[in-house]
Amino acid sequence: MSEQQLSLNTKKSTELHESDQAHYLPTFKRMPIAFEKGKGCKLWDVDGNKYLDALAGIAVNSLGHAHPKVSATIKEQADKLLHVSNFFVTRPQVQLSQELTQSASLDHVFFTNSGTESFEGAVKIARKYAHSKGRGGTVLSMHNCFHGRTMAAIAAGKPKMQKGFDPIPAGFKQIPFNDIDAFKKEMDNDIAAVVIEPIQGEGGIIPADLGFVQDLRYLCSKNDIVLIFDEIQCGMGRTGRLFAHEHFGVKPDIMTLAKALGNGMPVGAILSNEEVSDAIEFGDHGTTFGGNPIACATALTVLQEINQEDFLEEVEEKGNYLIEKLIGLKNEMDVIKEVRGMGLMVGVEFEFETAPLVMKMLDKGVVANATAQNVLRLVPPLIISEKEIDQLLAVIYDSVVELQKK
Ligand code: PLP
Repeated sequence: MSEQQLSLNTKKSTELHESDQAHYLPTFKRMPIAFEKGKGCKLWDVDGNKYLDALAGIAVNSLGHAHPKVSATIKEQADKLLHVSNFFVTRPQVQLSQELTQSASLDHVFFTNSGTESFEGAVKIARKYAHSKGRGGTVLSMHNCFHGRTMAAIAAGKPKMQKGFDPIPAGFKQIPFNDIDAFKKEMDNDIAAVVIEPIQGEGGIIPADLGFVQDLRYLCSKNDIVLIFDEIQCGMGRTGRLFAHEHFGVKPDIMTLAKALGNGMPVGAILSNEEVSDAIEFGDHGTTFGGNPIACATALTVLQEINQEDFLEEVEEKGNYLIEKLIGLKNEMDVIKEVRGMGLMVGVEFEFETAPLVMKMLDKGVVANATAQNVLRLVPPLIISEKEIDQLLAVIYDSVVELQKK
């Protein structure tokens, strides 16, 4: 379905989209909708059409749009202090450091402005630690992974993302996801760290195997290899636990966060344990904006809202409900190959490419996303109601039926 086939009145959106195309560096293939405002799980475009948001800005707006406490925090902090640099401390940064390290049971934190920066910093900490122990600097990542778009992140990522950007930084190697024997074969003194998404997000919502993660933890500890969990997409309550690795019963040495940490305010974090953090000295890393008071005040509010037992339980329940219903749809519809996920991080793999399905759903008032070609990614705000989940399911069903009629 092309953009011309949207049956909604999107005149003003289309005008903005066309103006945008004149100057926009064509990186993201944008949908022809311009959004004006949001409230809870709802979005409105500039033409006044209303949508249910099942994407949450790619797993970012976990508390939905215009959350009263988040908005109030931003306004209050904006009136007080926006930025002072990391030469000084501010109350919001100190409070967030305390609460975040405590909730992750990790010792140190460095604040960033994005996920890819969190990844870069994590690699630096891991390498500094490995070198301090006389080890090499190679970082192992998983096939089909995604850690961002900066040079180190693409070096760790899919070969497809590296095309045209050589020279690619050295010291990265991939192994098959969930294959502990492949890891064992690589385990030598040259390996500084291994990085894994407990649930691969961009790769198509693929959870890691429990045994694989536990074996990885055991082998990393035994061989002094740094274990990094990238929880940028799956962390912050998305799976029904504050951090996805809690499902696996193991702890990382380093964990990266971003996305939902600020509910839309750009903020990321690298959390690390005492041992690896010891390798870092003054001047080893830095940032101008990272950890600024407005980002930290917002993240603190978000953390306090999400990190509550009943909130997380509800995420798990709603996730189970969504997955159960989707499995019901799969039993009815041959074109659905698999339903995967944890909590409200759900992927539906289809027999066909899902980009046209996403356009069809958009036309029916639901914002979702296609990833890994054939996967429909559902990462709605965590505050989504059961009624809204039912609306989402009905739109998926109707859209698939209509696409199949063609
Ligand atoms: N790591 C994971 C698992 C992600 O899903 C993403 C973004 O989708 C990133 C890293 C990169 O984050 P950012 O886009 O904020 O740089």
